[in-house]
Amino acid sequence: MSDEPKTLPLVLSAPRGRAKPPRHLADLSAEERTAAAAELGEPAFRVKQVARHYFARLERDPAAMTDLPAKNRDAIAGALLPQLLTPVRVLEADRGTTRKTLWRLFDGALVESVLMRYPDRATICVSSQAGCGMACPFCATGQGGLQRNMSTAEIVDQVVDGAAAMARGLVPGGPGRLSNVVFMGMGEPMANYKAVIGAVRRMVAPAPDGLGLSARNITVSTVGLVPRMRQLATEGIPVTLALSLHAPDDELRNELVPINTRFSVAETVEAAWEYAKATKRRVSIEYAMMRDINDQAWRADLLADVLNAYGDWGWVHVNLIPLNEVPGSQFTRSRDGDTDEFVRRLQAKGISTTIRDTRGSDIDAACGQLAAAE
Ligand code: SAH
Repeated sequence: MSDEPKTLPLVLSAPRGRAKPPRHLADLSAEERTAAAAELGEPAFRVKQVARHYFARLERDPAAMTDLPAKNRDAIAGALLPQLLTPVRVLEADRGTTRKTLWRLFDGALVESVLMRYPDRATICVSSQAGCGMACPFCATGQGGLQRNMSTAEIVDQVVDGAAAMARGLVPGGPGRLSNVVFMGMGEPMANYKAVIGAVRRMVAPAPDGLGLSARNITVSTVGLVPRMRQLATEGIPVTLALSLHAPDDELRNELVPINTRFSVAETVEAAWEYAKATKRRVSIEYAMMRDINDQAWRADLLADVLNAYGDWGWVHVNLIPLNEVPGSQFTRSRDGDTDEFVRRLQAKGISTTIRDTRGSDIDAACGQLAAAE
C-alpha cells in the first residue's frame, strides 16, 4: 500500500444521453442468443463461437476471432460485442496487485471497478449502478445520487476485463485465474435486481455460456432491500449475501443507512437469516467502524444479541471495515483500541468476527471511496 499510485491518462468523456446501453452477447440468455443469430442471418453455432471467444477465451477483439468468416466478422462482432466500457484512467497500488479502473459508459456515465490479487485468489469489485440512490452519509458514492442502472453486460464486462487481465498476466504474479466477484463497487445491487441477477447467471454459467465462476465466490452486498433479499433466496443461485448493517439499533441506522426508515434492523436481519436458512450460506454483516458513532462497546453487545436472536449455528459472520475516510466527511475511523474491544465483545458472545483489510485506500479504491470524480 506504500507504492506511489500510477496514473495512466487515457480518454475523455462523451455527452450523456437517455438511450439504453447497446445490446451485448452478455445480455442474452441461451434462447435469446439463438434468436440473435437468426436476426443476423447466421447459424446458431456462430453465436456459440462468439461466446467461446468472449466467455472462455476472454477475447473481445473481433480481429482475433479468425474462425468467423472474414466478411461477416465485423457485422457479427458489432452486433454481439459492442464496446461497453472505455477505460478513462487506471490506478495501481500494492505493487500493482490492486488496480482500479475508471470506466466511461456509452452515454458518458462513469463507474469504477477494482481488481485485487491475493496469494490464494483474485477478486474483482464491480459497480452495478452509475452513482447510488441510497444516500448513506459516510459513503463517497452516496453523495452524488443515482445516475442510472447498469445493464447486465455492463456489469459482466467489468468481470471479463478483470479475468482477462489475470489470464494475460497483466497483474504481477504471473498468469492466473479470477476467482471471486464482489458487488461492492458503486451502486446498490438490489435496486438494479434484474440486471444484477442476469449478470450473476452469466458469471456462474459454465463456459462457453458464461464464466464458470462458483456462486459461493460471488458476494452481493446490500443496504437491506428486504423484498429483494427474499427474492434472491428463491433464485437457486447460492451467492454469498453481505448485509451492510453498520448499526444494531434503528435510531442510529436510520441516520447511517437511510433506507432503514423503510426496513427496520429487525426486519432486515430477519431477511438475512432467512437467506442463510434457505441457501445454507453464511451471511456476512458489514460494519464500517466510525469513531464515536457506532463503535461503542455497548453497541457490540447489542449487535451480538440482535444476531444471536436467530440462533447460534454459525449463520452469520461479522466483517468490521475500518472506515475509509471520505474527504470533507465528518466521519472518521475508529481508534484501534475501540475496534479491538468491539471484536472481543462480539467473539465473547460467540459471533465469528474479522477485520477487513483496506486494500487500495491510497488510490481511493477501498470500500465506499468510489466516487468517479472527474
Ligand atoms: N450498496 C451496497 C454496496 C456498497 S459498497 C451496500 O451498501 O452494501 C460495499 C460496502 O462498503 C458497504 O458495506 C458499504 O456500506 C461500505 N462502505 C461505504 N462507504 C464506506 C466507507 N467510507 N468506509 C468503509 N466502508 C464503506
